[in-house]
Amino acid sequence: MPHRLESESRKLLGRLREALAAHGEGQARLDKVVQLIADSMLVEVCSIYLFRDDETLELCATMGLRQDAVHQTRMRLGEGLVGRTAKFGRVINTADAPAEKGFRFMPETGEERYSSFCGVPIQRLGEALGVLVVQTKTERKLTQDEVYALEIVAMVIAEMTELGAFVGEGAALSARHQQPVMLRGTVAQEGASEGKVFLHEPRVVVTNPISDDPEKEHDRLVKAIDELRASVDNMLTGARTVDAEQAQVLEAYRMFANSGSWLRRMKADIENGLSAEAAVEKEQSLARTRLSQAGDPYLRERMNDLDDLSNRLLRILTGQGADARADMPDNPILVARNIGPGELLDYGKKLKGIVLEEGSVGSHATIVARAWAIPLIINAQGVTSEALNGDTILVDGEQGIAHLRPDDTVHGAFRDKLAMQTRAQERYASIRDLPATTKCNNTISLQMNAGLIADLPSLAGSGAEGVGLFRTELQFLIRNQMPKRAELSALYSRVINAAGGKRVAFRTLDIGSDKVLPYMKPNDEPNPAMGWRAIRVGLDKPGVLRMQLQALLRATNGGPLAVMFPFITQTREFRDAKAEMDKALAREKKLGHPLPSSLEVGAMLETPSLGFAPDAFFEEVDFLSIGGNDLKQFFFAADRENERVRKRYDTLDVSFLSFIERVVKRCDATGTPVSFCGEDAGRPVEALCFAALGIRNLSMRPASIGPVKHLLRRVDLGEVRKVMDDATANGDQSVRRAVADWLVYQV
Ligand code: PEP
Ligand code: MG
Repeated sequence: MPHRLESESRKLLGRLREALAAHGEGQARLDKVVQLIADSMLVEVCSIYLFRDDETLELCATMGLRQDAVHQTRMRLGEGLVGRTAKFGRVINTADAPAEKGFRFMPETGEERYSSFCGVPIQRLGEALGVLVVQTKTERKLTQDEVYALEIVAMVIAEMTELGAFVGEGAALSARHQQPVMLRGTVAQEGASEGKVFLHEPRVVVTNPISDDPEKEHDRLVKAIDELRASVDNMLTGARTVDAEQAQVLEAYRMFANSGSWLRRMKADIENGLSAEAAVEKEQSLARTRLSQAGDPYLRERMNDLDDLSNRLLRILTGQGADARADMPDNPILVARNIGPGELLDYGKKLKGIVLEEGSVGSHATIVARAWAIPLIINAQGVTSEALNGDTILVDGEQGIAHLRPDDTVHGAFRDKLAMQTRAQERYASIRDLPATTKCNNTISLQMNAGLIADLPSLAGSGAEGVGLFRTELQFLIRNQMPKRAELSALYSRVINAAGGKRVAFRTLDIGSDKVLPYMKPNDEPNPAMGWRAIRVGLDKPGVLRMQLQALLRATNGGPLAVMFPFITQTREFRDAKAEMDKALAREKKLGHPLPSSLEVGAMLETPSLGFAPDAFFEEVDFLSIGGNDLKQFFFAADRENERVRKRYDTLDVSFLSFIERVVKRCDATGTPVSFCGEDAGRPVEALCFAALGIRNLSMRPASIGPVKHLLRRVDLGEVRKVMDDATANGDQSVRRAVADWLVYQV
């Protein structure tokens, strides 16, 4: 960058700083800013457009265009050159604007007299706030250096907008982070809760974007980078000894921390008048925009790394967010881009709700949130940039909506909803110790699904008769290294003790598919859900399975034990797995350890093939548990993690139900106990239909036991069955509508 421009840009920033520091209305400041830019860049027009809502930009200040167009001229995102600059987050710089793709003529501004156009997005951390535009009469494309100077100015405008420097009348100048916002996402865990925002990564506020002492800022940056490098090196030394995967990520961090071009760009930003933290944020913002446009998953990962590194650097520079957890509000609702299961466990059950910008329904964090019945909304775009620590937030986990800073009407309606929920909970509590006996005198055993020690207290509170599915992989997933046998055995015995004599069906390790252990080399499989997972891994590499079986036998310490193997698709797999159990028993016997007083060895039916297994399988297995989550995805060939296809197929589809019935009949014929333990078991209408098909054992999230029991106790299964049969005979694809209509008159 030529020296003249460098100092010009600094001079401009210096004058901007004075203008921004002066007392006055937001509008007056904006007017001053456009005037300063136009004067200093020798252009006829300088304008600032800001968003008045997500889709509409508004001309908020101009030097050169007609003043009566201010706050009148509006365009939609993507419309005209201004709208396109905002939409794509990229500079549009042209000497001949009318010839440029997307040009829109706006007579009210008098702009036909201007031929050149340069629009620079005003954005903060990848979030579009508006567009800064300069125009000239002569056909002149701005030089790269001039564009760069405008980018620096746009960055300062973005920071000042965030800090509220331009607050004034009208929607486009309304204060940020103060309006009510409704964010739509996807439900990952039902429930409703009200609380205060607690940001997982507190937002760093840059209060001093401009500096007139580049040397000082340069020194601050260099020092902070040194500190950052040292901390990455430290983490790396720690990580190498435990975890190769994590070490790889940190190596990538180190590469960035030492990256010459990253540093050079930030130094240039400082030379041009930005403070060290504003320079970091400018580069971070640029990276975020690229991140949102990058299709290549590898590139996205690297961009994410750079984002994380920038956050660390900002915290070092500003000293903010060092002891964030200390300030957790009452009734905290966690707001984050994404979160791992380990981090979630660290927060513990005190969270009242979670809203994530990313996340997935089948992720481990979701499983933890579900186990704890914490309402969780995922894919809530924009929540991390909108929410501020301490904001009121309502999480509607039925609709998948979060209301941020709600107005009184929304708040009132939500409170009514909460009150209804509380009344329902009271109703459920009153039947907690009663059996789930239907009007036709059939009793359904309701059990709970669990995976953490922390889940066990729910056993008493929910009224569950036992643990129908204990997902042992959660204990493996939340660690940085493979747990040892003694650790596992101690853990399982705590589970057994906490269950206080109630039956616990331990499922052996179900990894692979979406559950990837952080300390195991990932298998690059094209289709992991149908790949090397669950019992397939257990049989091919039996070391872990053997260790787990031994740990379970020892934890049992002479008491009863129930174990089931996940994802069995053939008799042979069950036999091989059972043979491992027999070997483990023989070994324990030889060592003189006590053997279980009773032993049940079961299988999970998660693929259609097992429904067609030979009779011998049904005779050999001690019990069968239908894993509906996986079964459904294979039955309908619809990925359970893919939101687009997951909901296309109904559990109450007659084909799926007839398959379930077939399994029930085969189990009846051989006297094999059968249960259903997928998520659907916890949905009252589904539970009802399963019971009507003959299933007498359902395992679900603890929070679902009350609603399911409440409904079961009010119906006659014979009548339900008749409704289902009539709907099927009618040619309905799903019995849902018929059962729901019938229920309206029953309960
Ligand atoms: C299932 O597939 O239904 C099941 C209970 O197992 P998971 O959800 O852990 O795969
Ligand atoms: Mg499964």
